[in-house]
Parts: sequence; C-alpha cells; structure tokens
Amino acid sequence: MLNRIDLRGSHRDPRGLLPRAQLDVSVAVERIRPTVEAVHQHGFSAIREATERFDGMRLERLRVPAEAIAAAAETLDPEVRAALLESIKRARRVHADQRRTDVTTTVVDGGTVTERWVPVRRVGLYVPGGLAVYPSTVVMNVVPAQEAGVESLVVASPPQSQNGGLPDSRVLAACALLGVTEVYGVGGAQAIAMLGYGSRGAATPVEAAGDFEHCEPVDVITGPGNIWVTAAKRLLQGTVGIDAEAGPTEIAILADETADPRHVAADLISQAEHDPLAASVLVTDSPALADAVEAELAVQVAATKHGERVRTALGGEQSGIVLVGDLEQGLTVVDAYAAEHLEIQTRDAREWAMRVRNAGAIFVGAWSPVSLGDYAAGSNHVLPTAGCARHSSGLSVQSFLRGIHVIEYDEAALRDVAGHVVALANAEDLPAHGDAVRARFRSEAEQPGG
Ligand code: NAD
Repeated sequence: MLNRIDLRGSHRDPRGLLPRAQLDVSVAVERIRPTVEAVHQHGFSAIREATERFDGMRLERLRVPAEAIAAAAETLDPEVRAALLESIKRARRVHADQRRTDVTTTVVDGGTVTERWVPVRRVGLYVPGGLAVYPSTVVMNVVPAQEAGVESLVVASPPQSQNGGLPDSRVLAACALLGVTEVYGVGGAQAIAMLGYGSRGAATPVEAAGDFEHCEPVDVITGPGNIWVTAAKRLLQGTVGIDAEAGPTEIAILADETADPRHVAADLISQAEHDPLAASVLVTDSPALADAVEAELAVQVAATKHGERVRTALGGEQSGIVLVGDLEQGLTVVDAYAAEHLEIQTRDAREWAMRVRNAGAIFVGAWSPVSLGDYAAGSNHVLPTAGCARHSSGLSVQSFLRGIHVIEYDEAALRDVAGHVVALANAEDLPAHGDAVRARFRSEAEQPGG
C-alpha cells in the first residue's frame, strides 16, 4: 500500500528523495488568488459567490446568531462536553506556562531597554470543517489567544448543510464553552480573505455593503486547514500576521524492531483519515518491521471507517516507508523531512527525541500517540506542515504576542555613548543620525565627536 524508498547505503542529502505531495502550496496560491482578490474588492458578495461554488451553499448571513451558539452548548452530548472541558483544562495549564513577562535590562547606569510583550488586538481563528469537523481546533486556537490576553477573538468555520448553513454545532458549542461570541460561518480561502480584509469590500460603496453584521479585519490569522486555506494564509501574510502554514496533516514515525507494528499501523492510519492529501511516513532500519506494518495496514485499513480517504492518503506520493541503514541515518531523514508530527518508537526513545532538530511536535514512546496530542495532551495541535517545521513552531501564546523594545536613556548615559553613535553614523554616511545626537548637547565644547 505504501511506496518504499530504500536509502540504505545512500550518502545523498535525503531532502529531494523523501515523499512529498505534488500539489504544493505555491501551486494552490495561484488557484485561490482570484477568490482572495474578489473578497478584498467586493466583500460579502464575493464570499457568497465562493461559498456557493466551493461549499455548495447560499449564505444569507455571515455572523452566527448568539442564540445559535447558546443552543449548541445546551444540546451538546455530555460525553463530548466532558472531553472538551478536559481538553481545555489541560491546554490551559500548558499555555499558561508560556506567558511571558516583561524584562528590563540596565545596559549602563541611566540606560535601560525593556522588552514589553504586548498581545495583538484582534485575531481570526480558523477552524476547519470540510471532510471532518474540528471542535478540538477551537480549543487549540482559542486557549493560547486567551492566555496571551487578546482582546477580540473571531472564529471562522465552514457552513454545514446539516446545520442549516451554520458551522457544525459542536464547533459552536466549543466556542460557547470558551466564551467566544463572534463566529462566522465561512470556510476555505474566502474565510481567510474575509478575516484579513473584512467583509465590506474595498470597492463596495458603504451604502451597498448591507446592513447586517460585517466582519471587521483582524491583525493575526491562525489555525489549520486544507491546502486552499493554507495557500490563502500565505497570500495574506504581510497584510496580517499568520502563525505557521498548518496544512494537510503529516505523521512521520521513526521506529526500530522494538516497535509494535499494530501501533505503528494504527498511528499512520489515524493521520491519513484527515485528508486524501495527508502524509504518513514510516522511517525504519528494520525491513521486518516494514513488512509487519504493511501486513497490519492491510487488516486495519479494511476495517477503518474512512477507508477510501485513508487508502488515497497512504497510496499517495506524499506517503511511504523509508528504509535506512541505522537510526543515525533515520535521524538525518526525519530532520530533513521536518514532520508536523514525529513519533519515536525505538529503544531509548527519549534520547533519540532529544536529538531531533526539526519537527512540529514529538511524541515519545509507545504511550504517546499523535491522537493524544490531537485532543488531550495539553500540547497544541496546530502545527507546521510541508517542511515548515525547519523554521516555524506550532501555535502558542507567543503566536499572539509582539515584543516591543522600550528604550530609555538619561542625558549622562547618552553623552557617554554619543561618540560611538556619531562614529557609526559617519561610517554609514548617514551624518544626520549623528547630528540628532549632537543637537542635544548645548555648547560646542560638549559636542561629542568634535
Ligand atoms: P477546511 O475547513 O480546511 O476546508 C474546507 C473548505 O475548503 C470549504 O469550506 C471550501 O470552501 C474550501 N474548498 C474545498 N474545495 C475547494 C477547492 N477545490 N478550491 C478552493 N476551495 C475549496 O476543511 P478540510 O477540507 O476538512 O481540511 C482540514 C485540514 O486541516 C486537513 O487537511 C487536516 O489534515 C488539516 N489539519 C491540520 C492541522 C495542523 O495543525 N497542521 C490540524 C488539524 C487539521
């Protein structure tokens, strides 16, 4: 079912040899660019047009009425409510520890630099809802934003025909449990564009924008989504801040002969069920384990609910089994792959985990499957994909903060360093910079640098 890539004995850089999806984000960006531009220019009418096209629904309104959010909470299955509350509690514990305190450094007597951590004012949190619905993602987006102290939180999630064109009722209930009241039933690239530009439309006359409740633009957009959502986030970056590109999910498992093939197969399937474009990659130095996992996959895929989607994902060019000569080479391979989720199912798993450089999140040993992190480990499940873990982190309190340096020097402290400032200004041929310092010292004799 899975392609095999045999890197045993290879000394080549593994990056170009690893399984990756052919439909990459840069291709998707060009496909959704017209939708994003239309929403920018025409606001609601373009959102409505895109929703008809991609979700097959006609939107009558954007904002979910407060009564619908309250009703969803009231009718929520008690088991799901208990699970969401536990997930919120654990996530809050972890994310509360990520809060940052302002630090003042006394550089010299009379000269300080303070780093202030200031939350962004308004954020747009995307909660996917195409092939599956994700109340857990409400938790993963909202908790860090709240812990960071964000004032204004907006959730956008695709409309669902079985919920009268509103987002899924469990998504709405999760919003209610977290106290989020501003929710829009819009999905895909049009939702990201709406969050970034607002829903009024730059080219729409004010009187034509309608009198219903519009979405006002946000400062930062976070959250996972399919390739179209991810592409729209890339396109909006700069207009707003984004977290990382958290696209179609990926699992890589570094395993040796001590791994249980049933666990490995189950975990590969668990992520493949997200999306036909999801990637499941096993990296192992044990051909026997590879064979046993293949045999297990045949059994488990036949019994799994979303078998067709799973088969497409596992059989796709983005998934595979990579055979390596030993775990040292395996480590090089998983670092090159930079998976969103990396499981270590080896002897001395913790030691190997501590040596990994590139991964969105690492799951250590037999009792920490990715599904635990998806729902209730306390960690965040919004994680960078497609190799972005080389340079980006998962969603955290930090994603919603900016560090602002506050510089305060007194006269003596400025006088003390003025000569150096003038020297560097002259070296860069920016004499007005030096003059701005000289202007502060009254008599000519006091002028630094002559
Ligand atoms: P989604 O909300 O991301 O996408 C659904 C929307 O896509 C629809 O509302 C529709 O408007 C739009 N769309 C559908 N087909 C389109 C097309 N051909 N062109 C343009 N737009 C189109 O929901 P989903 O599809 O279920 O995907 C959820 C994704 O989120 C999965 O890929 C899953 O793996 C991923 N995910 C990632 C993480 C992470 O942290 N990386 C976490 C959870 C989920």
